[in-house]
Amino acid sequence: SLINSKDKLLRERAASVIPGGMWGHMATRYLGPAYPQFFERADGCRVWDVDGREYIDLMCSWGPNILGHHHQAVEAAAERQRRLGDAMNGPGEVLVELAELLVKTVAHADWAMLQKNGTDATTACVTIARAGTGRRKVLVARGSYHGAVPWCTPSLAGVTAEDRAHLIHFDYNDIASLEAAVEQAGDDLAAVVVTAFRHDIARDQELPTAGFARRARELTTAADAALIVDDVRAGFRIDLAGSWEPLGVRPDLSAFSKAIANGYPLAAITGTDRFREAATKVYVTGSFWYGAVAMAAAIATINTLRDTDAIARMTQAGDRLRSGLDAAAKKHGLSLRQTGPVSMPMVLFDDDAEFKLANAFCSAALREGAYFHPRHNMFLSAAHTAKDIDLALQAADAGMAAAAQVA
Ligand code: PMP
Repeated sequence: SLINSKDKLLRERAASVIPGGMWGHMATRYLGPAYPQFFERADGCRVWDVDGREYIDLMCSWGPNILGHHHQAVEAAAERQRRLGDAMNGPGEVLVELAELLVKTVAHADWAMLQKNGTDATTACVTIARAGTGRRKVLVARGSYHGAVPWCTPSLAGVTAEDRAHLIHFDYNDIASLEAAVEQAGDDLAAVVVTAFRHDIARDQELPTAGFARRARELTTAADAALIVDDVRAGFRIDLAGSWEPLGVRPDLSAFSKAIANGYPLAAITGTDRFREAATKVYVTGSFWYGAVAMAAAIATINTLRDTDAIARMTQAGDRLRSGLDAAAKKHGLSLRQTGPVSMPMVLFDDDAEFKLANAFCSAALREGAYFHPRHNMFLSAAHTAKDIDLALQAADAGMAAAAQVA
């Protein structure tokens, strides 16, 4: 059915004018051959590919879609600002309003700055930490993703050893390895960078233990270094005050992006007064970092998350999906590992080192109208109703049948 499909024709055209046909994490060559590369439209929790096939979307644009596509309050705020102006010679009033809202909402925040992508935000946090401490060493967990520039990209193509010279690795949730890394940094420790929880690709998700989070705080405080929480993926999906707030651990600097403006391009960093002067000194900027439309969208997104039961609805949808997937797996004689917050589902099959079951599951579920990912954590939105989840579960039943065949 894909022969002569619009998606196939677009891929053929793309192959001659775009290196590899597509770059980065949205290249569907990493997924089964049935996955569409190109989409025509989206609404709520659904997406339509360029051949008109409709899917219940369990990826939510890889995070940005949190309230549903075309959310009324967000679109109204964006449209209002668009009529006024977007990228001008300076930001609009919405910048100050959004910074005030972030400072009020995020528990550790004394100030906020805005960027566009998650990588901008994580990189600015590292730069500010180095500027504020006058030191070089940055500790990152093995396997954690912080973005796609030389200091953190997972591909070493085009990266020099010098780009990584001052990184030291530890294992997430492993206090002894963190202590060893801090020791190795000695008096040159600028920052410890941690994701909100362990959400590395192709492995079970892990929440941070309270002991690990507290130790990360103690070690950075003792060294007068920065504790940076990379909340780009999880931010505003778990706790509006910051993903480590339920653990009682406050970072010095946090990076946000993805969900912050319900799909409009925006990132933010928040920080404490300890790093205000450093944040004043560093030169971080971009042509589009002052665009007012995304800021207006972010204000509406955060207000809606705060004033509605959106986070609770994502949890309900996640619980329903998790128990439904477990039941479907059991019915077909398969066993799953579902880990991490239910609203950010990670579904892995037991005895599936090569992801054969996962790929069979996903490809069959896709044909039945549900867009799952075989190896990456997924995302739910407040637009996923019980009915949508049940439709996804119907597709998942076909997926499990297909997985059982290759098991
Ligand atoms: N940090 C984390 C934890 C992420 O999940 C991502 C994006 N997947 C990034 C940083 C980088 O964000 P972006 O792709 O917007 O640059």
